Amino acid sequence: MLPPSNVLVLGGGIAGIAAALSLSKELAPLNPDLKITIYELREVPSTSGGAINLTPVAQRHLAQLGVIEELDKMGPDAGAEVDSIEYYSIHTGRGMGRVDFAGKKGQGYGGYKGKRVMRISLHLAMLAAAEKVGNLTFEFGKKVLGGMESEKGVTIFFADGTSATGDLAIGCDGVHSNTRTKIVDPDRPSEYTGISFIQTTIKTENIESPIHFKASAMNRSRRGALLTTFCDMEKTEIFMAGLVQIDASVLSNDAWRQEGTNSFRPRWTPLKALRDDIRERFGESVIPCIREFVDKADGWSIYPVYQLAPGGKWFTDRIILIGDAAHAMPPRDESAAYALDDAILLARVLAVYYEQPLRDAFQTYDTIRRKVINDAYRDSTAGWANNKDHSKWASRVEEWLAPWQLRRRKRARIGAWVFDAHEVEIPPPKDWKEVEPWP
Ligand SMILES: Cc1cc2nc3c(=O)[nH]c(=O)nc-3n(C[C@H](O)[C@H](O)[C@H](O)COP(=O)(O)OP(=O)(O)OC[C@H]3O[C@@H](n4cnc5c(N)ncnc54)[C@H](O)[C@@H]3O)c2cc1C
Repeated sequence: MLPPSNVLVLGGGIAGIAAALSLSKELAPLNPDLKITIYELREVPSTSGGAINLTPVAQRHLAQLGVIEELDKMGPDAGAEVDSIEYYSIHTGRGMGRVDFAGKKGQGYGGYKGKRVMRISLHLAMLAAAEKVGNLTFEFGKKVLGGMESEKGVTIFFADGTSATGDLAIGCDGVHSNTRTKIVDPDRPSEYTGISFIQTTIKTENIESPIHFKASAMNRSRRGALLTTFCDMEKTEIFMAGLVQIDASVLSNDAWRQEGTNSFRPRWTPLKALRDDIRERFGESVIPCIREFVDKADGWSIYPVYQLAPGGKWFTDRIILIGDAAHAMPPRDESAAYALDDAILLARVLAVYYEQPLRDAFQTYDTIRRKVINDAYRDSTAGWANNKDHSKWASRVEEWLAPWQLRRRKRARIGAWVFDAHEVEIPPPKDWKEVEPWP
């Protein structure tokens, strides 16, 4: 098999752009004709909205890919530095502990703390980093529908009737991935976790009560949790997201999905339904600014959270899945880091296995990655259930246990933050000899 020259990256989110950047870094020195194309469903650069927390490891990997440099150019939109996520009970107002990104010396881990940034800012920074790379192109409005493989290459078909052929395709098209469900592993559909994010932003200047957190807080209630966090450097804006149990049957109800233009259901606008739901769950908090947030905020939108069953198949002869397309798990402030680790590791494995069959490279990557992902999946699934509705007593027990739960996970968290995908040892192929870089 000839070394890959023409790489198709399917999906231009965090995993897709990171994969393209890492592949360019690792493979371009071996092959001057390397061509990487990202095919993205959306017509223009955009995201699903909201803000994302970047852990120390996510930021370190983004810095290695040249993205933090671009983010830093965005001034206030570069995000809010997060020393810790503070946990509170909205019923008692008591602090229950924190996830500390600053560390004992206050310097963070590997030079980075946490950062909460709007998804669109991160996306634009990733695109800016990608634009600087000569062998990388972006095609928008390309929805992957399916594909086929042969000894000679892989062909991907798009919804607009076009197709693209390459040596290798990387499925980075998220939890509902068509690359997975139409080609690699059709038996693994996405499944609703039973929990949705109901989210919006509000201007800090509109809040009169004292704000009880420094940068970011998770405010737990008997009926879910309300994340409240600054998301810009100057703390002018607060991102809020209720992590709440919403049954699948409710999500399929038009009242939650459509704009409120139907004259037969004038009271059931989705905005009102979402706002009322949030007020009912969090509006009676003893924390004054929480009451004010939910009372004043508007423009709520809903984002149902999906996941994949653990395990599954990640690759065929010429196609491999990474990021959420391979292993979407309930988000726990760090899933984006797994997508970045995937991208960097895959590129490194492909460089070491440059002259080997792709399948050998994919199998090596799978072997390195499986246990880490399985462990992460187990952890995130256990914590996610806390967002479901609880009885009063179950909620008291949960609040009582929360400080211990946060402390219990501390070691694993720090272990994940100091991880460096560049330092993972890659077992060489049997007849390995170093490939000479292009002069
Ligand atoms: C509500 C929520 C909150 C989260 N908060 C955090 C957080 O705070 N911190 C954190 O680290 N992680 C968080 N995560 C997880 C994180 O967002 C994901 O793990 C990460 O975005 C995965 O990146 P990805 O590129 O694999 O997938 P995605 O970000 O979903 O990107 C997939 C890309 O593929 C495109 N696409 C989809 N289908 C097709 C198709 N058929 N053809 C072509 N393109 C396609 C999409 O348009 C998109 O651009 C959160 C997740 C959710 C759901």
